Amino acid sequence: AVAIGILALQGAFAEHQTALQKLSLTRKIEVILVRTVEDLDRCDALIIPGGESTTIALLARLSGVLQPLRDFVLKKPVWGTCAGAILLSQTVEGAKKGGQELLGGMSISIARNGWGSQVESFEADLDVAGLRDAERPFTGIFIRAPVVLTLAPSPDDPPIEVVARLSSDLLPEGFTSEDSANDPKTFVALRQGRHLLTTFHPELTQDNRFHDYFVRVCVFPATQ
Ligand code: GLN
Repeated sequence: AVAIGILALQGAFAEHQTALQKLSLTRKIEVILVRTVEDLDRCDALIIPGGESTTIALLARLSGVLQPLRDFVLKKPVWGTCAGAILLSQTVEGAKKGGQELLGGMSISIARNGWGSQVESFEADLDVAGLRDAERPFTGIFIRAPVVLTLAPSPDDPPIEVVARLSSDLLPEGFTSEDSANDPKTFVALRQGRHLLTTFHPELTQDNRFHDYFVRVCVFPATQ
């Protein structure tokens, strides 16, 4: 079986565990909650949950897993949801200097709490072509979600694929965009090589098709 870790320092790790356990009925995966370097060493891939990105980074440093996580990202598939998406980004806008440590992995810049205080949380139906049973929309749950600002892959990086975007009429007020098809602010799920990023929380739905997508598209090709 392929061992998929879930970083379990803070945030919605238990919900990811439930979703993966459901998936393990049909796919050969083992689920590991990761709190130490020893846990991480057993993993073939990792999920970083939503929560509070600064807290997760701080706890990772205190637990001695921050540098091992950075090394992990260079070698193995990682999926970040919400706060995890922030940690997977190369740069975060508006962070206080020294206030936010990142892991990198995806060549993008992102803004924390990018929808502002007026639109802290919302749900939106997403059409995601890459999912199983793709004609059924996926409910994106956005909670103090980050917003993707720029895609900046260098020539040596794998290309970035837009896996899901918000349709422009679902963009919160103040986010109307003239060319929303190409506006990174509408990009809510991205894949770069073996890494996946979602600014919303698939683990807070009963629908585990994004977990299936990660395993099928990012994890299995990299491990088998
Ligand atoms: N706002 C959080 C952060 O900046 C992310 C919110 C979430 O994961 N739901 O880390």
